[in-house]
Amino acid sequence: MTRIALVGIGKIALDQHVPALNASPDFTLSATVSRKGSVEGVPAFTDFATFLAERPDVTVVSLCMPPAPRFDYAHAALMAGRHVMLEKPPGATLSEVHALEALARAKGLTLYATWHSRMAHAVAPAKAWLKDKTVQSAHITWREDVRKWHPGQDWVFEPAGMGVFDPGINALSILTEILPAPVHLKKARLEFPANRQTPIGAQLTFSGNVTADFDWRQTGPQTWDITVQTQQGHLALRMGGNVLELDGQPAAGENTIMGEYPALYARMAQLIAAHQSEVDLSPMTHVADALTLGERITVEDFHF
Ligand code: NAP
Repeated sequence: MTRIALVGIGKIALDQHVPALNASPDFTLSATVSRKGSVEGVPAFTDFATFLAERPDVTVVSLCMPPAPRFDYAHAALMAGRHVMLEKPPGATLSEVHALEALARAKGLTLYATWHSRMAHAVAPAKAWLKDKTVQSAHITWREDVRKWHPGQDWVFEPAGMGVFDPGINALSILTEILPAPVHLKKARLEFPANRQTPIGAQLTFSGNVTADFDWRQTGPQTWDITVQTQQGHLALRMGGNVLELDGQPAAGENTIMGEYPALYARMAQLIAAHQSEVDLSPMTHVADALTLGERITVEDFHF
């Protein structure tokens, strides 16, 4: 078993990373680093430099803090000879992730920029079905309630928090995985609350008749759907990529997200064993393009 540390013990670390590591055949959770958070029974550090100096036996770190502070931690970890796993989105900017990728390569270490939604149950079957199809159009509907999923997390509305692209990038990680040919952004309409730095809604138009509707103001039923019309039939991925329908009929998947993080850690173990990195920035490139190209619409103030 390889010793691993979790850094940034907050919502996603406790909801998903800790259970996945407790069940992992590859890793044992041997330390946490967090200013306030900890995991019962696991040695807890509040300072990353102290952890790196005192625990050379822990050879892998998994960074679960928001994207803005992540680069400094990833850089320090790679400089100290640790393999690094990044939560999504992998960083605050594309350039900083390119820099980390180059550093990992120079040091002979693994850098894994994870996209948990790509591990959803029906994504691989959807990709396999689409492989030889002719795509005519596709649409993403990703509408959820930010108060339910990010209660009080003001960082999502700060620079680098990405606003509605924090969930939207999950949809884009699936889209870029399953489409048989890449698309590029042509138009974006971004809705910024007057009192915030990042959008709460976004409507995107890509090449190839691909469109997306991201909204963080949806109360009641939540929607995480991707539909694809092809010459050979209709595909729908529902529940965040976990359920596949073909021509309206259930075809694959399971309505639970609990398999995603175990699959990420299994992949990390494979990458370390193979002395490889995996850094696909295509979902984040679309977000950067939207923030470059987008028309800005001011909407009403948002308060948690
Ligand atoms: P969170 O609970 O707000 O933050 C995680 C932890 O990061 C915090 O508890 C905090 O721990 C640490 N942290 C926050 N700001 C920091 C800073 N400036 N410097 C150092 N550490 C800091 O966020 P989260 O919801 O877990 O999300 C973290 C990442 O996971 C994001 O990139 C998000 O997109 C991704 N993610 C989230 C979810 C979800 O459902 N929430 C799902 C999938 C992926 P201390 O204060 O103890 O240091």
